[in-house]
Amino acid sequence: MANECAEDTTPPGSPRICTSCSATIDRTEWFPVVAVPEEGYRIYAFCDETCRERWQRETDT
Ligand SMILES: [Zn+2]
Repeated sequence: MANECAEDTTPPGSPRICTSCSATIDRTEWFPVVAVPEEGYRIYAFCDETCRERWQRETDT
C-alpha cells in the first residue's frame, strides 16, 4: 500500500506554508509533499499538486 504522505516533523504550533506560493496549508487535510535528501532529510509541503509540480519544474535544472 502506497502512502505518499510523509511523517509530519513540523513542531506543533508552526503552520505549514506552501513552498511554492506561501499559502497556509490546512494540516488536517491531505497535502502533497516532496522529500529531498539535503542535510539529512527535508520535507517540502505544498498546498496542492499544481504548486508541487511547478516547484519541481523550477528546481529540476
Ligand atoms: Zn501553493
